[in-house]
Amino acid sequence: MYGLVRKIVGEENFSQDDFEIWCYSRDSGSVPPRRPGAVAMIRSVEALAEVVRLANLHGKPLAIRGASSSMCGAPMPVQKDSLMLDLTTLQGIDIDEESMVVTAGAGVTWTQLNKALEEKGWELGLEGPWSAPSATVGGTLAVHAICMGAARYGSLGTQITGLEVVLPDGTPVRTGSGAHTANAMVMRDCNGADLTGLFLGSHGSLGIIARAAFKIYPLSRHLAYGAFSFPSLDRAIDAMHGLARENILYDSRLFVFPVPPEIGGDAGLVYMIKGSRKPWLDDMAETAGDICSRAGGRKVPAFGEEYYRGRNHARVKAFGKAGPGWLEVAGFIPIRRYPQVARRVLAYFEEKDDVLKEFKIRWSLGGLLETRSINIPVALFCNERNRAVWERMLEIWMEVAEVMFSLGVSPYWIGDLHVAVMGRLGPAYDLFRGIKKHLDPKNILNPEML
Ligand SMILES: Cc1cc2nc3c(=O)[nH]c(=O)nc-3n(C[C@H](O)[C@H](O)[C@H](O)COP(=O)(O)OP(=O)(O)OC[C@H]3O[C@@H](n4cnc5c(N)ncnc54)[C@H](O)[C@@H]3O)c2cc1C
Repeated sequence: MYGLVRKIVGEENFSQDDFEIWCYSRDSGSVPPRRPGAVAMIRSVEALAEVVRLANLHGKPLAIRGASSSMCGAPMPVQKDSLMLDLTTLQGIDIDEESMVVTAGAGVTWTQLNKALEEKGWELGLEGPWSAPSATVGGTLAVHAICMGAARYGSLGTQITGLEVVLPDGTPVRTGSGAHTANAMVMRDCNGADLTGLFLGSHGSLGIIARAAFKIYPLSRHLAYGAFSFPSLDRAIDAMHGLARENILYDSRLFVFPVPPEIGGDAGLVYMIKGSRKPWLDDMAETAGDICSRAGGRKVPAFGEEYYRGRNHARVKAFGKAGPGWLEVAGFIPIRRYPQVARRVLAYFEEKDDVLKEFKIRWSLGGLLETRSINIPVALFCNERNRAVWERMLEIWMEVAEVMFSLGVSPYWIGDLHVAVMGRLGPAYDLFRGIKKHLDPKNILNPEML
């Protein structure tokens, strides 16, 4: 079969070289390596469809990979002899200013997309995850990552107007208005059932996203920032809830542990407001400041702007200092339930204090505002060059996931954490498995991923 794959993608886009295979055996996190059998770089939707058709015919497992910036094993093959499809080479940006929609190839990064739009005076609603310089559009949609701007726009799905997806038998389909070949991908919610949603968050197990169309907006010219320190987590949550009710923020983050020294106190909060009109922005900035002050917050000048300007490097810096091993568990919970979950997580880490000190495993607990919920990320860092330390961190990762998911926290990127969450979903998981079986009876697409 590999002979035919070489022909389809071109000799220079195929490899079984040991070193290259090794380079494709990990993601950005500390999940132990899993090697694919071969790698093919995909440069066109036609080549993608042809390779998938062939793999289906031969029952060959496929592992789908974007930039591999996940931290949970999601882009790593579950089956040893998988053919890995590298989608970073599936490029192309088409800006339709008349329809106010941009269509991007799955391998386009968020930074590429943001820059291309900015040059023409446009922007996306959500500018992508904080891994924007490397993370791809396809991989981000496939894990439903939380993006910058979630306080205003919510999930990425709210910004999608259509997808082009290659199904496990190699058939390309378009969703939304674009399902009709005489129409463009300008509207998600039409032509019957919402098929777009089927592929968002499905970790490449139901279809491979080849292209995605997003709403675009005139470029916001004005920005405002805020940072506040709070005497307790409950007061910080009061503030975040008040800010969410007013629906005026573009983005907001919560610090519980560690609270940056520049902020201090028991909890901290930063936010960003975006607008095209300065008087509106000034008014909203004043309202946001009042809400935080009324909740008992102390204003921390300049920190909000400094924090957001360094956003695409913030986590890499933390990772450099405390890593290089890094794992995360994250998921959504109603805003008011955040303290309950945070306290259980804090209690867990207190119990484990001796182990954490012995193995020099560091951790952090924070929050990101989504319009009606908070995303609660727990990050773990260690020196994974020491095998015993690495193994301990993997155990702690699963235990923290257990604590969080048992309280109802709903994850989005899942990967190897599927063992801790999917079984809790009951009939909803049965439904998902049924759809998977129907679309992919030979179980070739990211098998056993979810
Ligand atoms: C420094 C840093 C910052 C980060 N910040 C954030 C953040 O702010 N928010 C957040 O949620 N996450 C964040 N992450 C995690 C990660 O970057 C995101 O989840 C990212 O969106 C993944 O995109 P990717 O292209 O790397 O996908 P990959 O990791 O390559 O793949 C993710 C999953 O999608 C599947 N997949 C990939 N491409 C396709 C496709 N075209 N079609 C179908 N399935 C596909 C893969 O099989 C895999 O299951 C961060 C990671 C790093 C390293």
